[in-house]
Amino acid sequence: MAIVQDRTGVEELLVRASTPELRNEIEQMILRTGALLIGDHYVLKSGYHSDQFIRFSAIVKFPTHVKRLATALAEKLSSLAPDCVVVPNNAATVLGYELALQLHSKVAFVDLGAAGYPARFAPNFEVPPGERVVLLVDIVTTGQSLRCLDSLSSNAGLEVVAAAAFAERGMTEISQLDLSCPEENRFVLAKFKLNHWLGIPGVCDLCSQGIPVVSSMNLQA
Ligand SMILES: [Zn+2]
Repeated sequence: MAIVQDRTGVEELLVRASTPELRNEIEQMILRTGALLIGDHYVLKSGYHSDQFIRFSAIVKFPTHVKRLATALAEKLSSLAPDCVVVPNNAATVLGYELALQLHSKVAFVDLGAAGYPARFAPNFEVPPGERVVLLVDIVTTGQSLRCLDSLSSNAGLEVVAAAAFAERGMTEISQLDLSCPEENRFVLAKFKLNHWLGIPGVCDLCSQGIPVVSSMNLQA
């Protein structure tokens, strides 16, 4: 495993951010925290394989970074005046807490199921029917975590007004997902272009070479 430590390396992989200033700040966050890993054979939660991984937990160890990212999201979401931010109980949790603070809303944590996807509201964090909620995740790969939050919220009678994420990693765009909220109310702060393959020898070069896999779930600690 290697950490991307040079700015050129980060610039190549970070293809877009919502503003030039934020792009610069996210580059610096990644360099300072060692959040971008390369040179191993990562199995993503989605089942895809990659030789590049963003470790969001490395970024959220720094409250100033969490505050900066939440501020950028709050600027986009505040006009919607949501009642609650719905966020999985993982590395995204503190971002959800800070976002709710800035939006003057509540926050609701969603516990993960065995596959690592949001499965049920945490005890005592159920949201009353009719409330307007924002769904938040850290990084969109296939969008499955957002879909889980969306169906959980819809089934609970909530109105999903927006969906947001720190970043997309280049496989699926948040705007293309089949979510309840309008396309114009979906926001990501950064877009990366990271490699990913189906985990099949011949499709994934690293599988073909017999390189042992590293589960991304173990890297978020
Ligand atoms: Zn592979």
